[in-house]
Amino acid sequence: AKKEGRNNAQFFMQALNDAACERLLLERQLRKALANEEFVLYYQPQVDADSGRIVGLEALIRWQSPELGFVPPVSFIPFAEESGQIMLIDEWVVHAVCRQIAAWRAQGITPPRVAVNLSGCHFLKKSLVEMVAECLQNFGLEGRHLEVELTEGVIMRDVEQATATLADLKRMGVTVSIDDFGTGYSSLSYLRRFPIDTLKIDRSFITGVTKDADGAAITTAIISMATSMRLDIVAEGVETAEQMTFLLDHGCAVMQGYLFCRPAPPEEVTRLLVDGLPM
Ligand code: C2E
Ligand code: CA
Ligand code: CA
Ligand code: CA
Repeated sequence: AKKEGRNNAQFFMQALNDAACERLLLERQLRKALANEEFVLYYQPQVDADSGRIVGLEALIRWQSPELGFVPPVSFIPFAEESGQIMLIDEWVVHAVCRQIAAWRAQGITPPRVAVNLSGCHFLKKSLVEMVAECLQNFGLEGRHLEVELTEGVIMRDVEQATATLADLKRMGVTVSIDDFGTGYSSLSYLRRFPIDTLKIDRSFITGVTKDADGAAITTAIISMATSMRLDIVAEGVETAEQMTFLLDHGCAVMQGYLFCRPAPPEEVTRLLVDGLPM
C-alpha cells in the first residue's frame, strides 16, 4: 500500500508538472500570438428578421496558431483571463475592430455598430475607457460605431466601478449590451441603475423556445421586460425557422445565429455589407 501511495504521489506530481509546463507553454504561445498577429477576427451579423437587414455585427476572436492549429476562443480566453493576458488580447480586439470599421468606411461602406466582447478583469479597470477612447480616436471613429458586450457577473462584481465605467462609455456614445442574459445571477433591479442598451437572450433559452415550456416562458418574459424598460433585444443562437417565428411572434426581431449567418472572415462580411444577406 505504501508503494502504491508513493506511485500515486509521483503520478500526481508528474501530472501537476505537466499541467504547469502546459500552462507555461500556452502563456508563451499566447504572447507570441499577440506579437505575430496570429489572431483574427470573424464577424457574425445581427439581423432584423423582418427586413433581412444586417443591423449589427459581433466580433469573435479566432486563433490560428502555427503550432497548435485552430484554437477556439473557449480554449484560450478563460486561460488568458487567469494569466492576465486577456487585457492585451481585449486591447488587440478593440484595435482590430476599429481598424476594420475604418477600412470599411474608407471603401465607402457604412458598417453597422460592431460589438466586442470584453472580459471582466479588464472592465473593472479605469484604463478600459481610456483604451477604447484612444482606439476610436486613432481611427477617427465615434463611440456610436462600437458596442461592448459584458456579462451580468462582470457588472455585479463591482457595482460602483461598473456604474462609473458604463457612464463613461455612454458619454462617449459607446453602447452596452448584456451578453448571455439570464444565465448569470442577476438582481434585475440593477438593470434600472445601469445605462444598458441591449439584452442578448442566451442561446440556451432560444434553443428551448420550441422544445420546452420553460425556455419559451423565460424568453417571453425577457422580451416583455426588456420592451417595457425600452431596452433593445438580440436573440442569440437562432438556428431554426421555428425559433425565428416564435421570436417574431413575441416581439423580438433582432437575431443572431446560424440560421442567418455563421461568423465569417472580414472579406466575406464586406460582401454581405455590400450585397446584403442571401435570402
Ligand atoms: P459569446 O460571446 O456568447 O459568443 C457567441 C458564440 O456562439 C460564438 O462562439 C458564436 O460563434 C456562437 N454562435 C453564434 N450563433 C450560433 C448558433 O446559431 N448556434 C450555435 N451553436 N452557436 C452559435 P465562439 O466564437 O466560439 O465564441 C465563444 C465565446 O468566446 C464567446 O461567447 C465569448 O464569450 C468568447 N469570445 C469570443 N471572442 C472573444 C473576444 O474577442 N474577446 C473575449 N474576451 N471573449 C471572446
Ligand atoms: Ca458575446
Ligand atoms: Ca453570448
Ligand atoms: Ca456564451
